[in-house]
Amino acid sequence: MLTPKIQDALNAQINAELWSAYLYLSMGMHFEAEGLPGVANWFKIQFKEEQDHAMIFMNYVNQRGGAVELKAIDGVPVKWESPIDAFKATLEHEQKVTAMINDLYLLAEAEKDYATRDRLNWFVSEQVEEENTARELIDKLRMIGDNGMGLYMFNTELAARTYTAAAPLSEE
Ligand code: MG
Repeated sequence: MLTPKIQDALNAQINAELWSAYLYLSMGMHFEAEGLPGVANWFKIQFKEEQDHAMIFMNYVNQRGGAVELKAIDGVPVKWESPIDAFKATLEHEQKVTAMINDLYLLAEAEKDYATRDRLNWFVSEQVEEENTARELIDKLRMIGDNGMGLYMFNTELAARTYTAAAPLSEE
């Protein structure tokens, strides 16, 4: 069984992952409308990955005999000045998610819930990836500056991104 504190925290995390999904979907739709389908593709895959994150937590809550509570998802921004602005917002958001995962980890230890702590380990590594990828894309866009050919190539590179289900989901 999950303690009430852990269950509430996991439900808050599920909501945060779904909000992340919503944020990246909004970015995907924005850049599609702006004529950058590769950038849009990258964010639409990110949208799916965030849904996977939520699903991993939802499956886990049920596995532990808890109750998933899907709360309202807050609205998200709808407009970004440029791809670099969106990736900077992505990095900033992922840093907040990392802090939430770390808080959850601390709570799991305080509640002596080692199964939850163990489940969180995958997310700890995943957050390193998320932040690093955002940073790399920001660096590339800094190099590109306002070079049109650079942006064309960046868009083409991001068009090649494909979706793979998050590891914990394919293991289940
Ligand atoms: Mg996530």
